[in-house]
Amino acid sequence: MASILRHVRLLALDGDEPEGLVDLAWEHGRITELGQDLPAGAADQVWDAQGRWAMPGLWDAHTHFRSWALGLTRLDLSGAADADQVLALVRHRLDQPDRPEVLAGSGYRAALWPVQPCVAALDAVAGEQPVILTSADGHSAWFDSAALRLFDLPPRDGLVQEGELFALAPRLWAQERQAAGDEPLRAAQSRAAAQGVVGIVDFEFEPTFLTWPERYDRVGLLKVVCSTYSGDLDQAIGLGLTTGQRLAGRDDGPGVVMGSLKIISDGSLNSRTAHCFQPYAGADGLADPNGVQSVPAAELEDLLRRATAAGLQVALHAIGDAAVAIAIDQFTATGATGTIEHAQLLRWEDLPRLAATGVAASVQPAHLLDDRQPTFRLWPDRTDRCFPLAALGRAGVELRLGSDAPVAPLDPWLAMAAAVHRGDPADPPWNPRQALTVRQALTASLRSRLAVGQPADVVLLDEDVLTPDPDSATTARRLRATTPAATFVAGTLATPPW
Ligand SMILES: [Zn+2]
Repeated sequence: MASILRHVRLLALDGDEPEGLVDLAWEHGRITELGQDLPAGAADQVWDAQGRWAMPGLWDAHTHFRSWALGLTRLDLSGAADADQVLALVRHRLDQPDRPEVLAGSGYRAALWPVQPCVAALDAVAGEQPVILTSADGHSAWFDSAALRLFDLPPRDGLVQEGELFALAPRLWAQERQAAGDEPLRAAQSRAAAQGVVGIVDFEFEPTFLTWPERYDRVGLLKVVCSTYSGDLDQAIGLGLTTGQRLAGRDDGPGVVMGSLKIISDGSLNSRTAHCFQPYAGADGLADPNGVQSVPAAELEDLLRRATAAGLQVALHAIGDAAVAIAIDQFTATGATGTIEHAQLLRWEDLPRLAATGVAASVQPAHLLDDRQPTFRLWPDRTDRCFPLAALGRAGVELRLGSDAPVAPLDPWLAMAAAVHRGDPADPPWNPRQALTVRQALTASLRSRLAVGQPADVVLLDEDVLTPDPDSATTARRLRATTPAATFVAGTLATPPW
């Protein structure tokens, strides 16, 4: 059965799109025809877009999908101003009929509270219901007594802190995953589709090349590119997996495709572990004043060679400029292909070297909203080289936008707004020379075009998001407020009918 979507205006991404109202036709997940008044057969499914703007589906090039999906199910405590407000939120949640086995909440910030969290106060609200509330930075958690007992922790008055909490993390994660089942994964995909997302790259910390194919028939909605970490590389190679290979789903529909070997080669800005050529500001006393290269060059070379020989691309996490330079060296030396993930700080001289490798930069513009202040504190001497999105584009490096959800929300419009304005719309832009245009930001979020032979991944918008604004803050506000009217994934309507 063919489908026809009537009366769309094509977003002018490349400038050669036909103007005026056109119809799009597709079959078996691919666009077959584009033109005016396309004839419909009796069996064809016909929609009327009523003059809405159409663009290709959006992709998120970096997610930890199950973590994001589970996070959406937790009680959101980020708005709580003190312990009493947290307790009120917990009480309200426990009054709902669908009590979870263990109530999980997250996002509170207790540092400035006059009264610190205490177990007895939570017990008074929760009774025998296990409750685990994790702080916004993930370094402490407020358990009630029932939860302490459930996880064999000794009784106490205060919080479960770092070492003890981190050691428990795999058990907590397994419990939450098992109790939640498939529903959060389904809900999170629907939510992404409602934002115009048709595909995600998943770097969840699990063998996603096994978990996604196993569950895809039950929960699959979006196109998924899975991955392997080096710990599971032998297994992935043993299974004969190669980048681009389809692992689940219909040939002509959405499905799961094998992606890259993911390697985390350095740390992060906020923990002062991203590997840099210059030391962090105030690094005296730090064991590693320049950050940490967690996978040394020789080991990287070996991993890149093994992946490449097996037909796997590489997604290489490198945040500091020294880690990025080493990544470029190793991509060059081994001929490996793929992406550098994050590329948050670069030396200018490395831009042409990166371009020469053909490796794409998979970047998360929404991180610059949170990292702006830490950058001025920790990298005050190099703020001009942070998130150099425009310079990467000018150098000829392919950009792919993503969220790194749950680190930032899985929201391509937020990412694009951050790329365009480089700041919260209420603030002046940070280093606007490195801002992308809306067209560049959109292009970096797409993997197809609305043209014959291309995937039938179509998003309908109520307005033309390429309309120019007087300033980037206005554009950022407009992008953030964008909600597509409909999303088709491989020709299937993945959102409610408009
Ligand atoms: Zn990540």
